[in-house]
Amino acid sequence: QCTLVCPTGALSEKDQGDVLLDWIEDPAVTTVVQTAPAVRVQLGEAFGLPPGTNVEGRITAALKALGVDFVMDTRWSADVTIMEEGTEVLAKLKADREAGRRGTYFTSCCPGWVNYVELSAPELTPNLSSTRSPQAIFGALSKTYLPQKKGLDAKAIRTIAIMPCTAKKEEAARPTLVREAGVQDTDLVLTTREFAAVLRRAGIDLAQMPEVPYDSPFMSASSGAGALFGATGGVMEAAVRTMRAVTGVDDKTWRPAFEAVRGMDGIKEAEVELPGVGVIRIAVVHGLANVKTVVEAVKRGESRWDFVEVMACPGGCVGGGGAGRGQRTPRAALPSRLQGIWKIDAEAPIRASHENPDVRRLYEDFLGEPGSHLAHDLLHCEYRDRRAAPNPPSAEQLFRTVELT
Ligand code: SF4
Repeated sequence: QCTLVCPTGALSEKDQGDVLLDWIEDPAVTTVVQTAPAVRVQLGEAFGLPPGTNVEGRITAALKALGVDFVMDTRWSADVTIMEEGTEVLAKLKADREAGRRGTYFTSCCPGWVNYVELSAPELTPNLSSTRSPQAIFGALSKTYLPQKKGLDAKAIRTIAIMPCTAKKEEAARPTLVREAGVQDTDLVLTTREFAAVLRRAGIDLAQMPEVPYDSPFMSASSGAGALFGATGGVMEAAVRTMRAVTGVDDKTWRPAFEAVRGMDGIKEAEVELPGVGVIRIAVVHGLANVKTVVEAVKRGESRWDFVEVMACPGGCVGGGGAGRGQRTPRAALPSRLQGIWKIDAEAPIRASHENPDVRRLYEDFLGEPGSHLAHDLLHCEYRDRRAAPNPPSAEQLFRTVELT
């Protein structure tokens, strides 16, 4: 076993690949693996492929070769996140406009950012979207919706997430994401680097694997918007597509791209018109220094933004510290990884979360509608002021970024 350090400082990384292998070998266990958008443009580098190569199908082939029962796509639950978060934020923006006030609302799918708020700016916890991250939403639905659809024993399911950062391990263990005592919705999180080590130990060369589609289409069909979660600006771009559509805009302005929120500028801003709400000002922030600038402006009451996407890592999840060697992510790889994400979106037959037929089926068959009672129970969570927790790590420790090479 080896121990590495996350660049967000969220948690030291303990190699848990053997846990996955033990579960695969246990006939009483049903293994369900989800793979994050960023991982598919990172992992190939560990097997000699150029940065940004989309190895999505090869990851599925490798997991099936290992003996995993179900391999599914976190892009699907990213689309569900957009349905919930878009509905939630739209309702808040409308209420604010009607009341003549302005609130600034933040995305919450990056646990490095959520930790920072809870430990450093807890007065902003009400401004965080209550919608769970795609990892957490997948975890909850894998223990409820999946067994119902497939006739599986929920207690036999072990849900494993392959993610770009160690902060996701801590997220999976958050008390609000534990369904019953000691049972997490997401049982195990492996970083890109840990998963690469598992494949090497098993003698699997990812570069030589064939392309294999995801299992169980009802939890894997996904949109290009879902893929964008891997890149800075991607959650905002995905949200804007659906928020504009559900407020009545049908001009497909998101084709081919919402350039204002793309690229490596630290703080990106744009205005978006939403019928019934008005013009909203959005921002996209990544990296600690830029996040501090925005947080301090909001705390001083000088915010000019209605909705802000925050990602702890430079470049978003493609820059997550769970890939690369040691705790460093090569800066040179980021542009290619971002291009890889945008290419997946551009080539996707479905580009917006609300157009995903399997997401529509989820609501028709199981949840009812976005924001329903059941959706709130399974897909939302609460945040808390953690400054008073016993021996809390400092926000700086939890949100520390490395100087990229
Ligand atoms: Fe993890 Fe970084 Fe992505 Fe946040 S931005 S979820 S810390 S990889």
